Amino acid sequence: MAPAYDDQNIFARILRGEIPNQTVAENEHALAFRDIAPKAPVHVLVIPKGKYVSFDDFSAKASPEEITGFMRLCAEVAQLEGVTLDGGNGYRAITNAGADGVQEVPHFHLHIMGGRMMGPMVT
Ligand code: C5P
Repeated sequence: MAPAYDDQNIFARILRGEIPNQTVAENEHALAFRDIAPKAPVHVLVIPKGKYVSFDDFSAKASPEEITGFMRLCAEVAQLEGVTLDGGNGYRAITNAGADGVQEVPHFHLHIMGGRMMGPMVT
């Protein structure tokens, strides 16, 4: 069974304005902000505003409007950061889920990383 959502996780606290963040873009359903420990020149996290633990939780329970809003914000971030194939050099979008995915923060998020060539997809 999927773990219950923890209202005290760090991204829940960011969404409530209890912890500052470097916002890149926002819409009704999602927030995008810079990763506090960037692993690439562009490293932005996109999170839904709803309470979803992981990708499988989000994709199973979020409404079509939430999913669309989330995906559109991801695309907007890539445009804003200049990493789309239309003018940029591309990017990597990944999500970590659960123990084997080494998910640190139990609020679903997508990492959008670019600005350099990424390494192999092993770790
Ligand atoms: O492993 P996971 O995909 O859960 O990664 C969580 C990410 O959240 C890390 O890249 C970490 O640097 C980032 N983070 C952040 N701001 C915080 C706490 C964590 O950007 N306050």
